[in-house]
Amino acid sequence: MAQVIGFIGLGIMGRPMAKNLLKAGHALVVHDRNRAPVDELAKAGARTAASPREVARECEVLITMLPNSPDVELVALGPDGIVEGARAGLVYADMSTISPIVSQKVGRALAAKGVRMLDAPVSGGEKGAIDGVLSIMVGGEPDVFDAILPIFQVMGKTITRLGPLGFGGFTKLANQIIVAVNLTALGEALTLAKKAGLDRELLLTALGGGLAGSKCLEQKRANYLAGSYAPGFKIDLHYKDLGLIMETARELGVPLPTTAVVQELFSALRVKGRGGLDHSAVITLLEDLAGASA
Ligand code: NAD
Repeated sequence: MAQVIGFIGLGIMGRPMAKNLLKAGHALVVHDRNRAPVDELAKAGARTAASPREVARECEVLITMLPNSPDVELVALGPDGIVEGARAGLVYADMSTISPIVSQKVGRALAAKGVRMLDAPVSGGEKGAIDGVLSIMVGGEPDVFDAILPIFQVMGKTITRLGPLGFGGFTKLANQIIVAVNLTALGEALTLAKKAGLDRELLLTALGGGLAGSKCLEQKRANYLAGSYAPGFKIDLHYKDLGLIMETARELGVPLPTTAVVQELFSALRVKGRGGLDHSAVITLLEDLAGASA
């Protein structure tokens, strides 16, 4: 039987994920600090709630899709937070990309109220969210994972339990290293080819068919061809992830020299006022450096 699901955080990702749950026949209670996406979901059939506490009171499964660690801490443990409304037995899946250390801390605080938490960050971008084909990387206890799996299957296609709470987050950070470095490598390669006078469309077709081919190349192809970089996944958010990665790497004693350089490039993009662009726009900085802009 369809369960009542709470959904907090209706941004670029949360909105389509919540809509897919509605389409699958689930009863949804939604909340966001912005009014517009709440109204949009209400029109599509969701009930609305004024606070995370109210959401928690009304649902059996609760999902959050928020920007960063402090947002999740606030929504889960702050005033009028999930902790104040949750009943024992509530299953809570945080699908945001946040610090795995913070996930573990929030999980411990909620466990005292009988809430069973998973961290379940995603990869696949806005398109993956709309199409319901995200890769969902899950940390938490196996029985909680089994209980929520049919709900994850509405939003994602590749759903993997990696271990206990926090392991979803560690996996997502590994994912974000690969994507940031890959997009920077694409930026360097395409800038070199641009100065050499190559046709970008032919170049991308040739590269896409060999070992250099990647999901990044496929999904960002249209951006590179148009030279326009509307998000997508914002540089600001990926910069946030690079911060989480370097913080975690320091804690675990792992030098990440290439990622550190990429983090500085993303920092420069923000200084130049490009933080709101898609992360594939790292190419624009490399073109600037090469005197190959526009
Ligand atoms: P977004 O900024 O578009 O959405 C976040 C939403 O959370 C906003 O609607 C905001 O109003 C709401 N919010 C923030 N604080 C709140 C609070 N205290 N109470 C209620 N609502 C609050 O971000 P997004 O792109 O949807 O990303 C969400 C998460 O998913 C991030 O952690 C991001 O790193 C991750 N992610 C994003 C993508 C992508 O392509 N956009 C892909 C994979 C993972």
